[in-house]
This record gives sequence, C-alpha cells and structure tokens, in this order.
Amino acid sequence: MIKPAALIKQTSAGGVIFRRLANGIEIALVSVKGGKAWCLPKGIVDKGETPEMTAVREVREETGLTGRIVDKLGDINYWYYIKGENAKCRKSVSFYLMEYLRGNTADHDAEVDSAEWFSLNTALEKISYRGDRSILEKANARLKESEA
Ligand code: ATP
Repeated sequence: MIKPAALIKQTSAGGVIFRRLANGIEIALVSVKGGKAWCLPKGIVDKGETPEMTAVREVREETGLTGRIVDKLGDINYWYYIKGENAKCRKSVSFYLMEYLRGNTADHDAEVDSAEWFSLNTALEKISYRGDRSILEKANARLKESEA
C-alpha cells in the first residue's frame, strides 16, 4: 500500500536588500540549484527568533551583506514535496525591505551557489519564482516612491 504523504508547515523569512548607486538602485539575489535558479535570500525562522531577526540573519548569511529593515513587504506561500520524507510542505515566507549597511557578496555561505548585486530591472528578469517576483515588484514600487 502507498503511504499518504505527511503534511508539514515551515515558516521562513527573508529580504530584499538594496543600495543606491549614482546610476540607480541595486538589489542582491542568490543563485541555487547550480546557478539555475535566482531567488531572494531567506531561511527558516529558528526557535526564539522573530521573523525580522531571521530575515536580517539569513540575508547576512546567504549574501554576505548586513542590512537594516526599513519596511515589511509581505508574505508568500507555496507547496513543495520532500521526497526523502514522503512529506508535502506548505511554506510561508515573510519578506522585508532592507537598506544595505556593509559587507561583500563574496562572503556568501555554502547554502547558495552565488550572491550578486543586480539593477532592479535585471533582478526582475532573472528571478525564478512568481512569489519572489511579486515581492520584488513591491520593493521596486516602494523604492521608486521614496525617490520621487
Ligand atoms: P529555506 O531557504 O527556507 O531554509 P530550503 O532551502 O530548504 O528553505 P526552499 O528554498 O523553500 O527550501 O526550496 C524547497 C523547494 O521549493 C525547492 O524545490 C525550490 O525550488 C522551491 N521553491 C523555492 N522558492 C520558491 C518559491 N518562491 N516559489 C515556489 N517554489 C519555491
């Protein structure tokens, strides 16, 4: 008999970290799956952490960049299947807009294949998942508003 998949829930948090340069705004993305997918940095909310703490920590670990939260952008949800555990996971991720303070993308951790700064337009072209794109579009709108 085929065992039905278990249902599990995961809560993560992450960020859109930005910097203003003379020729425009840049944001940082990370690549995974051998460079095939480009995503916003994020990770699981650990016990005792607020989503804001997780977002700052995960952005720092995955991109090498330290930022400070300036706004909440919103939440996304998706399902994925964890093969080894025969489990279906519903993941919820809260995203924050973060101003870059310091750090270098060369210092990303081994959870990702690379971390890179991109112009907002290039990031919108590169980003792999619809949910991440909707968050990046919100960030784009907020950043353009604050420039006006
Ligand atoms: P975390 O970064 O929260 O610790 P993880 O790296 O273990 O999590 P995910 O990044 O959620 O796991 O990836 C699990 C599966 O979900 C992968 O197959 C991935 O391709 C897919 N995935 C990742 N981000 C999204 C998204 N925004 N929308 C839909 N599917 C996604």
